[in-house]
Amino acid sequence: MEKYIDTHAHYNHNRFKNDADEILEKIKESTKLVINCGTNTEEINSTLDLVKKHDNVYGILGFFPVDTIELETNVNNLAWLEEKLGYEKIIGLGEIGLDYHWNKPDRQIQKKWFIQQIELANKLHLPICIHSRDAEEDTIDILLNNRPEYGCIIHCYSYGPRTVNKLNRIGAFYGVGGTSTYKNNTLLRTAIKKMPRDKIILETDAPYLTPEPNRRMRNDSSKIIDTIKNLETILDLSTDEIIELTNKNALNAYPLLQKYLSWKRLWAFSFFLINYRNILNVILFM
Ligand SMILES: [Zn+2]
Repeated sequence: MEKYIDTHAHYNHNRFKNDADEILEKIKESTKLVINCGTNTEEINSTLDLVKKHDNVYGILGFFPVDTIELETNVNNLAWLEEKLGYEKIIGLGEIGLDYHWNKPDRQIQKKWFIQQIELANKLHLPICIHSRDAEEDTIDILLNNRPEYGCIIHCYSYGPRTVNKLNRIGAFYGVGGTSTYKNNTLLRTAIKKMPRDKIILETDAPYLTPEPNRRMRNDSSKIIDTIKNLETILDLSTDEIIELTNKNALNAYPLLQKYLSWKRLWAFSFFLINYRNILNVILFM
């Protein structure tokens, strides 16, 4: 089985504080790479640390709807974010958006900083990763009026098939994870069938949203296999076909990832050539 890509996780979360390094090493058995999110000043810094420390971790950075209060109280934080987005292995801006479930901060504040961060992503030629909870209409409205020019990913897609039709107009990618395995989530499964095949990507949102049958456990990238198994019936594809498809889609959703992976391949090839020459020298002059 080929290894898959986990496009959305939080290994800098408190629930990984004792074993993040260990888990990130262990998931290498099943997971090609992980995209970790930094969602406020503290978590942006911890994401940058993880990215530096682990070759299989890439990062996206942005102010989460609830954390836009950090932008509201200190406008310099937007310039600070811009600087951090230029760091190595940072491949997108997110997760940003609207969360009306908690309604904190005020909706107007959330909207304002959602738009400003879309503009920043456009300026930096980066795709955005969107968190949208109980805010379907406003999210679509903002996206249609402030187009993300370098692509957008709707992380943990949670709306119905009709919204898929609207989001297809802006070429959105859809993050599919553990929630698609939950028994009462028929609407989501219907929506997945409507998603263009070349726009579906896999994610965990670890430590949250563990797929069945381990819903009560802490989530990590190795559990994506349960989401894949469930997708087999929804999409009528095999495990290998789903992995191949979603890996390819993830590289299209985050084009910088492609660049980093081809550099890695080039580096591995040069390393091989240098060593090959050395071995050849030894043999010839023995
Ligand atoms: Zn998340």
